[in-house]
Amino acid sequence: MRDAAWGFRLLSCLAAVAAFHVLAGGAACSSGEAEEAGPVKAPETPEAEGDAPPPEGGSADEGDDPGETAPEEAPWKPPTFTARQEDRDRMVEVIRRYGLLDGAVLKAMAAVPRHEFVPSRHQSEAYADTPLPIGYGQTISQPYMVAEMTRLLGLKPTSRVLEIGTGSGYQAAVLTHFTPHIYTIEIVKALADSGRKRLKHLGYEPVEIRHGDGYHGWEEHAPYDAIIVTCAAGQIPPPLVAQLKAGGRMVIPVGSPFATQWLMLVEKDADGRVRSRNLMAVRFVPMVRGDRTDR
Ligand code: SAH
Repeated sequence: MRDAAWGFRLLSCLAAVAAFHVLAGGAACSSGEAEEAGPVKAPETPEAEGDAPPPEGGSADEGDDPGETAPEEAPWKPPTFTARQEDRDRMVEVIRRYGLLDGAVLKAMAAVPRHEFVPSRHQSEAYADTPLPIGYGQTISQPYMVAEMTRLLGLKPTSRVLEIGTGSGYQAAVLTHFTPHIYTIEIVKALADSGRKRLKHLGYEPVEIRHGDGYHGWEEHAPYDAIIVTCAAGQIPPPLVAQLKAGGRMVIPVGSPFATQWLMLVEKDADGRVRSRNLMAVRFVPMVRGDRTDR
C-alpha cells in the first residue's frame, strides 16, 4: 500500500524515531547534494476562471455599472489548478489521518500544486508525504508539517505573515489561501529568484520575496500577526520576537542539526508578554547566518 511505503520512507529518513510525533518531522532528509535549482521548466499556468467557483463573498455585478466608482479592492483569490488533483487529494487524506482535521488547512493543501514546486526528477514523489530536495542542499518540507505549521498560525484574511526560508515557495503559496499579506525571506539568492519567478508565474502575485538573512526579520512590514520559520534556528531570534504583534504567534523549529529539534509555538499576549512551548520533535535544515550571495 502506498501509505505504508511513504511511512517507511519517512522512517528511513528520520534516525532515532522514538515518538509518533517525530513521524511528523519536517524538512531535512537533505543529502546536501549539488542539484539544480527548482523546476525551471514552464510550470502549469493557473486554470482559466471558467471552471473556478465564484469568489467568496464577491458580488456578481461588481464593476458592471460604468457609473459606479471603482471597487475598493477586489478580494484576493488564489489561483486554482486541476492537474494531479487526485494525487493531491490522496496526500490530503494522509494528512487527515495524522489527525489534522482543520477544513481550511486541508482545503489549501488540496489546492496548491506541489508538483510545480519540486524539481522535475522528483515529480513522481511530489505528493508523497515526505520532504524532497530542491537544490542547494535545501528541501521542500513534508506536506504534513506544512499543514500543521499553517494551522498553528491561526490565520485570518487580514493577517500579516512573515516566513523565514522561502525555499521553493510552496509554504508561501499555501499561506496565500488564508491571507494575501505574505512576506518571505530566503538566504540563497538563486532560490529567492526562482521562488519569486515561480510564485508569480503560478498566480501567487501577492507574495513578496526578499533575499537576505531572515534572522533579522523584515522590519519594513512589521509587526506581524504570524511568523513561520522553516529552517531550524539555534535559538529563537530576538528580532523576530520583536516584530511579532501583540496577540501574534510564531512557529519555529529550534535546535542544532545534530540534536533533537523542537517545533516551538511562541505567543505574544496583549500586554507583550511572550510565552513559548515545545510542541513536537522535528527535523529541519539549519538556519544559516549572514549574506550568502555566493551560494
Ligand atoms: N518553506 C520552504 C522550505 C524551505 S527549507 C518551502 O516551502 O519550500 C528552508 C529554507 O530556509 C532553505 O531554502 C534555506 O536556504 C532557507 N534559510 C536558511 N537559513 C536562512 C536564513 N537565515 N534566512 C532566510 N532563509 C534561510
